[in-house]
Amino acid sequence: MPDVVVIGAGHNGLIASIVLARAGLDVVVLDQLPWPGGMAGWHVVGGVEVPVGAYVLGLIPMDLLEELGINIEQYKPDPIAVYVKDGELVRWWKDLDKRIAEFNRWGLGDELRAMWSKIVEFHRALRRYLYRTEPPSREELLSDPVLSEFLKLRSRDFLGRYLPREFWDMFIFEPYLDQPAFMVGYYNPATDWYYPAKDGEVGMQVFARELYKKAISSGARVILGLGVRKIIIEGGRVRAVITEDDRRIEAKAVLSTASPINTVLELVGEEYFDKYVIDRFRSIPPNGAYRVVIVYDGKVRMRGELDNYRDSILQLPFGETVVHNNYLIVTGLPTRDELENYVDIDWGRVKAFELITPQDYERLFRVAGGNLNHLPMFEEFMFDKRPVSGWGYKTPIRGLYLGGAGTWPGGQVTGIPGYNAARRIIQDWPSLRQ
Ligand SMILES: Cc1cc2nc3c(=O)[nH]c(=O)nc-3n(C[C@H](O)[C@H](O)[C@H](O)COP(=O)(O)OP(=O)(O)OC[C@H]3O[C@@H](n4cnc5c(N)ncnc54)[C@H](O)[C@@H]3O)c2cc1C
Repeated sequence: MPDVVVIGAGHNGLIASIVLARAGLDVVVLDQLPWPGGMAGWHVVGGVEVPVGAYVLGLIPMDLLEELGINIEQYKPDPIAVYVKDGELVRWWKDLDKRIAEFNRWGLGDELRAMWSKIVEFHRALRRYLYRTEPPSREELLSDPVLSEFLKLRSRDFLGRYLPREFWDMFIFEPYLDQPAFMVGYYNPATDWYYPAKDGEVGMQVFARELYKKAISSGARVILGLGVRKIIIEGGRVRAVITEDDRRIEAKAVLSTASPINTVLELVGEEYFDKYVIDRFRSIPPNGAYRVVIVYDGKVRMRGELDNYRDSILQLPFGETVVHNNYLIVTGLPTRDELENYVDIDWGRVKAFELITPQDYERLFRVAGGNLNHLPMFEEFMFDKRPVSGWGYKTPIRGLYLGGAGTWPGGQVTGIPGYNAARRIIQDWPSLRQ
């Protein structure tokens, strides 16, 4: 009998399993998918390994990767990103002075410098609260002089202090404009976004593979392609999980890194939770992403000047687009005409085409509403309210923990929920083992 069953071999589940196994606990990780990494994993389209979800890293702290022994390099093209603003290119260079010069084309260099130094300060301040096994409340964060500004201002007011409206999409998605400027800080890592790389190979698969290998070498047993159907509660505490092939695996603790909504409503069952929790989870509207993948017979070429920046993260009007040699992925749903405006494409040379819809993501990852952060990254689901006020990583059911993107600090590839949740279990272990 393992000590802990981890549901989900996404990046948070794998990180949790490394921390738990290193602490000497017997850990089994189960994932219904056949690949490791979950939304940060990859699959093969037209013979090429392409990311299924996440394609860049930036929010996972380097010191966390070091502590876990994950040795990946950061591949940053220069410019890192290129934003297409009314047909003009705005290049986000690696070097800060070059960025300032770029923004000076619109007379906005000083403003950009001031805004960026605020964002750098934000991340420095946030670090003090990241590795908490009890998530901080909004009130606690408000007591921090740097963070309080990001909590009190809306994203639109923060951005509006520095830049005209036409630049805002470079820094935040539209739905976050009325959310606290905390989200602008969160989504703009001070170290910038990068592609994981190792030994000349560039792409998200490098990161997922390294995590998977590290989980196994740390002693965790990772079983892919086997889902959990039910979490069994007996005598007020977690006793076991039932797998989809009807095996019962007993454990002292279960850590679910799947969506909290699916964990509560499907795997455990409504009857174990207060009505307000069920109402809260049932009322979350769907919010998913589209993904278009094109695998080409030859190098993918962009039109005009954009072709010089093929390697960069391309912020195009229909969605972020990344190109690697012979494939292109768009997180968005361009029409054929829109795509052809930017990509020099001969459809006769397309080897494979894939469209993933929000409904596909919902089914694929078993994530309610297709939400790529498991829960919305809106104020009512942030800080110690993520997923539910008073829970943090520990649910009211003894032995049942949560540690995926639906817990503090939130979604994207940060690794912090899995890391903190595992440490929380280790803290509680003396009482859990009884
Ligand atoms: C299209 C898209 C683009 C994105 N781009 C980026 C990006 O570039 N950078 C970034 O940082 N973030 C990005 N994200 C968000 C990021 O990928 C996710 O927030 C993050 O990977 C979530 O990690 P996780 O480990 O918490 O959860 P997941 O990756 O969702 O892992 C949870 C795992 O649980 C498994 N599971 C669910 N139910 C069960 C069950 N009953 N039994 C067994 N296993 C189960 C799932 O199969 C899944 O593998 C993107 C997401 C998407 C979808």
